[in-house]
Amino acid sequence: MKLFSTSEHPDGLKVLLAAAISGTQVQIVEHNGLPCSAILEVTERKTRYHLRANSAVLYLLHCSSHNQALDIEAWLEWEATELQPVLVPYLMSMAGGHKDKILQNQLSSLLNTLSSSTLPILKEVNAASVVLFSSLLPLMTEDASSTFLKEHYPDEWAFITSFRENSLFKECIASWCSTSGSIRRWLGQASHLCSPLHSTLALLKVSSTAPVTMASPHIPSPDQSKPTRAAMPVKDTQFKEARLSWENPTASAAKPRARPVPVLPAEGETNILITSALPYVNNVPHLGNIIGCVLSADCFSRFCRLRGDNVLYICGTDEYGTATETKAITEGLTPAQICDKYHAIHSNIYKWFNIDFDYFGRTTTKQQTEIAQGIFRDLDENERIFQEPVEQLYCGKCERFLADRFVEGGCPHPGCGYQDARGDQCDGCGKLVNAMELMAPRCKLCSNSPSVKSSTHLFIDLPSIEQELCSWLATSSPNWSNNARVICETWLRDGLKTRCITRDLKWGTPVPKDGFTDKVFYVWFDAPIGYVSMTACYTDQWEQWWHSSPGKVQYYEFMAKDNVPFHSVVFPATQLGTGRTWTKVTHLVATEYLNYEDGKFSKSRGVGIFGDHAMDTGIPSDVWRFYLLYLRPETQDTVFSWVDLQAKTNTELLNNLGNFVHRALSFVYKFFNGAVPDDRPEEADYQVMAAVTQELGQYISALASNRQRDGLRTVLAITKLGNQYIQDNEPYKLIKPNRSAEDHERGATVIAVAANMVALVAVILEPYMPDTAAKIRSFLGDLPCLRCLPTKFSRLLPPGHLIKEPTPLITALDNDTIHNLSRKFSGQPSPLKAPSDPGQVAQLQGLVDEQASKVRKLKEGGSSGKDEIAAEVAVLLKLKGELATAQGVDPSTAGKDKKKGKKGGEKGGGGKVVEEEKAPEGTKNNTNSPPRLPVNEEDANKLQVLVTQQGDKVRTIKARGDASKEELNAEVAILKDLKRQLALAQGIDPDTLNAKDKKKKKK
Ligand SMILES: [Zn+2]
Ligand SMILES: [Zn+2]
Repeated sequence: MKLFSTSEHPDGLKVLLAAAISGTQVQIVEHNGLPCSAILEVTERKTRYHLRANSAVLYLLHCSSHNQALDIEAWLEWEATELQPVLVPYLMSMAGGHKDKILQNQLSSLLNTLSSSTLPILKEVNAASVVLFSSLLPLMTEDASSTFLKEHYPDEWAFITSFRENSLFKECIASWCSTSGSIRRWLGQASHLCSPLHSTLALLKVSSTAPVTMASPHIPSPDQSKPTRAAMPVKDTQFKEARLSWENPTASAAKPRARPVPVLPAEGETNILITSALPYVNNVPHLGNIIGCVLSADCFSRFCRLRGDNVLYICGTDEYGTATETKAITEGLTPAQICDKYHAIHSNIYKWFNIDFDYFGRTTTKQQTEIAQGIFRDLDENERIFQEPVEQLYCGKCERFLADRFVEGGCPHPGCGYQDARGDQCDGCGKLVNAMELMAPRCKLCSNSPSVKSSTHLFIDLPSIEQELCSWLATSSPNWSNNARVICETWLRDGLKTRCITRDLKWGTPVPKDGFTDKVFYVWFDAPIGYVSMTACYTDQWEQWWHSSPGKVQYYEFMAKDNVPFHSVVFPATQLGTGRTWTKVTHLVATEYLNYEDGKFSKSRGVGIFGDHAMDTGIPSDVWRFYLLYLRPETQDTVFSWVDLQAKTNTELLNNLGNFVHRALSFVYKFFNGAVPDDRPEEADYQVMAAVTQELGQYISALASNRQRDGLRTVLAITKLGNQYIQDNEPYKLIKPNRSAEDHERGATVIAVAANMVALVAVILEPYMPDTAAKIRSFLGDLPCLRCLPTKFSRLLPPGHLIKEPTPLITALDNDTIHNLSRKFSGQPSPLKAPSDPGQVAQLQGLVDEQASKVRKLKEGGSSGKDEIAAEVAVLLKLKGELATAQGVDPSTAGKDKKKGKKGGEKGGGGKVVEEEKAPEGTKNNTNSPPRLPVNEEDANKLQVLVTQQGDKVRTIKARGDASKEELNAEVAILKDLKRQLALAQGIDPDTLNAKDKKKKKK
């Protein structure tokens, strides 16, 4: 076996250790130009496989115990997808001499997970301990952080030290790392580690079936396409199928399903009802809310539509309850006005995120009243409702019972003494409080001291429904997400209790029962009924969805885990208690939490990104969608990080996906006048097609079971295959005029197949990035088949089909943008923007422009004194401040003009609007310096050589004078591509490079 690896890289060490332990001979080939840090070449049954580091370790240290193998794989997945993305930027920040505190905190919390649960597995030598040992080793060898680790993580330190003292390990480390201390040697390569090629999607298959193969039989040269993950091996039968399906015309003739209004369930169709948990109206949703509910549901509903299902997606704002009343009081509005205001805010945010609801409604409607009251009457008639008196605080002056949030007083907890404890919690000691126990309670509205008064409330008798609920759960819950099942079981374990469903409030659905008409339904009883009433607002035939015959409608509910109890137990029990046939949840899909950098999202502290902020960042909504779905917290909490957002955008989206689409379509456009060429595929092409079909199968099964992260990774695996395919076959060389007719045909075939892969990408990207998918479709002439999901890869673009000139899909995120955004959202208070007055803004803008031109003239004129100019500049700054205020921007953070954003065709601009905070007037120097990306010196050196060689070649061809335009263009295209790669390796945004080139030309 051969190990190709960057010298001293921890990934190489992983493989070496595994080989030494398993007694396998490995020949080391130092290779610093790999697209990833280590590759093990294995030959089995005459086939050569290339395994990446973690896969190689698993391959070498095969575990025979099935249970332990699963554990080990889970920890490898964790190392690759959770630890590496934090560890590597942290090490890089350390190497750069400024330890990143945020990353350090993230790393600490990750290491906490490690210490509590992995240690048993780490105590023995296995694939997990070898991988974790190798990746943590650099952290231990650098002095500063080894102290940090020694102090905080003695257990991990012990495991690493004991391994390091093991003689076998010692030998390997010594042979691999010439200098034991420095981590800097491989940090230049570290950006590779961020790539999810480590994701164990492929790994999981390695252990059970055959090793991972790469599409090409040789080690690729430095290549702009950072690997996503390796494709799986292709079997003979798949190969034959690939050949058949390529010629199969049904896929290209497919037409998307019509979307009539209203959509109604139909006999013999797959009818899918989708709801996402109703966002509470009094808050602006943050990114965690968005991925947990509406975005996950949107991704799934778009997938179902592509698949041709009959889909209805309903959501809306949950508007009743105490929280709305409180908010109304703080903002000096009526509850109805609060609801109108925030419903519009929610609506706009979701529109911006391209959440494609069939209907986005509200709970404050007459349909809600009718349906909720109807359900209550059914329950009452079935004797599921009973009455009981409850003691509560009552304010005589305000003539109302006080909800917990409306009462304050002395904290009842001994030793606290805090005088302004709330009726639900004490901010002094943080403990929960029972409102009835507050010392000297007072009404928050009028400060009057309330009295205790008894009020009779209505309760739902859940215990009487429990048995029926359990037998229903037995058939429904197997299809739920794991966390939903677990939470539901926990609730049922101790038996169900009766629950009060009424409140002494005014802002709610009125209770239709004598003696209770001054009360309203409690929000948790009311809110899920919103799904039904919103459907009723959408169509008066709503009963077809909600009272359908069993099995006719599949019902998917999306939510974060905190909402599971009400949706898995309370709402279904309510439905069952009515004695009617209701459509009940068949698939409850719950996510864990998304955290922000090192903590939780907090509106009050201004921490984290809220929907309205995301719209203002200048980063397109598709990039947000991509990153949120990439991070979707499916099995554990995940962390949003700006550095990671940048890394994923620049590597996965730009270098991998964007680059493939652009390259493949540019070949068609430039070399074939935009007409997809004729193809005559060979074995190697069918091999790639079979691999694509295999990935497509993974995509379909992942999305159908709402493993949306895995689905996205298969999309990236397909574009990775595409990049590799072009790299291996070099069609741009084959079609040069001086090549043979066979070469031409071969080049045309490769380009046709690649263009068809782009067509498939346009289809499967739709659930994740609908704007980008639409853009690719527009290049391809918007064929109907591009909105239908095929089950196999086949020819979607017929030969001769004309395409348009492709433009770049993705804009790189530069360091300045990311740095500024991460500072902006790190916790400084950012008040909600005041609505701006367009008239006033326009007027001030005029004054600013006028004053600015005055200043310019004074400066250019050269005759004015310094003081005179300074005075005019002061006037200008004051005007700019006023303008910022009128625009609703905090003038202290907007003291500077916004850099002109590139207005691409995309919504939200090109992701380049940078707010330069507090930069003084006149210091423009850094606006022209190119943004910095992680620098990859070794790649850069290599690429520099290639660029020079290619530059010489182009010059020679030009000098020769007899070269065809096509030939020259092809070589220039290669040169440009290399320059672009070089720029990336040098940490320069290639787009700024092009802009410079153009400027030069103009001169
Ligand atoms: Zn009062
Ligand atoms: Zn207290």
